[in-house]
Amino acid sequence: MMTDYQWLACGFYALLGVGGLLVGSLTTALVPRMMHDTVGTMLTGRSRCEACGVTLRWWQLVPVLSWVLQRGKCNHCGAVVSAWYPLTELLMMGSWVLVGKRWSNWGVEMDDVLVGDVYVEMVSWGPLVLALLGVTLAVMCCVYDGRYQTVDRRLTLPFLLVAGLWAGAYSPLGWGQHALGVLVGGGFFAVQYLASRGRWLGQGDIDLGLVMGLWVGWPAVLGAVWGGYLLGMLWVLPLWAMGRLQGGAKIALGSFLMLSLVGHMGAKMGLWGWYLSTVGL
Ligand SMILES: [Zn+2]
Repeated sequence: MMTDYQWLACGFYALLGVGGLLVGSLTTALVPRMMHDTVGTMLTGRSRCEACGVTLRWWQLVPVLSWVLQRGKCNHCGAVVSAWYPLTELLMMGSWVLVGKRWSNWGVEMDDVLVGDVYVEMVSWGPLVLALLGVTLAVMCCVYDGRYQTVDRRLTLPFLLVAGLWAGAYSPLGWGQHALGVLVGGGFFAVQYLASRGRWLGQGDIDLGLVMGLWVGWPAVLGAVWGGYLLGMLWVLPLWAMGRLQGGAKIALGSFLMLSLVGHMGAKMGLWGWYLSTVGL
C-alpha cells in the first residue's frame, strides 16, 4: 500500500513530467515560428504538417507518443517528421523533473505527518518556479541553436531577466560572484567573437555566456562553460571518427552550453563542487 505521502511525491513528479512534456510540445511549435517570424499564428492557426499543410488531429499532438505511433512520418503525405519533436519534448520533461528533484525533499522517511504541512514543506516553491522558468528558456535556446545555429534575443533577454531574479532572490552567492560570473562568461565568448570576427562563434554565444555567468556565478561559470565544451566534444568525436563530419560543418556550441547549464540548475550540490571533490580539492 502506498501512503498518502508517497502518493503526493508521485503526484508531484507526475505533474512536473506532464507539464514538461506539454511545454516541450509548445516549444516545438514556438521555435520554428520565432525563426520565421510567424509567432502570431500560434494563437489563431491549428498545428499543421510542415510538408503538406494538413491540419493535425488532436491525437497527433500528444507529445512523443504521436511521433512514435506515426513512426516519425506524416500520416497524410508520408514526409519525415523531424526527431527534434520528440527529443525536445523528452528533454523538457527531463529538465523539469530534474529541477523538481533539486528543489524538493521527497524520499525522507515520513509517513505519519500531516499531509498538508508536508506538501508545503517538502518543496521549495519559490526557487522551483524560477528554476522551471530557467530550464524552460535554456531548453528553448538549446533547440533554437541546434536547429538554426543562432539564438533569438526574444529568448535570451527574458532569460537574462530570470537569471537576475534568481541571483537576487535565491542564490547563496554574493552579488560580486555573480558580477564576476557575468564578466567571465560573457567575456570569454566576446573575446573569441572579436578575435575571429564572428567566424568561430556567433553573437548568440556571447548572450548565452552572459546568462550562464549570471545564473551560476563565479567560479561555477568555469565548470558550466567547460561542461558545454565537453558535451560538444563527446558529440563531435564519434561523428569525426566515423568520417561523418564534413569540413566547415558548424557545431551548435550554444546547444551544448545550455545542456550544461540545465545540469548545473538541477545539480543538488552544484556540479562545480562535484568536480572539485572528484579531483580531490
Ligand atoms: Zn504531411
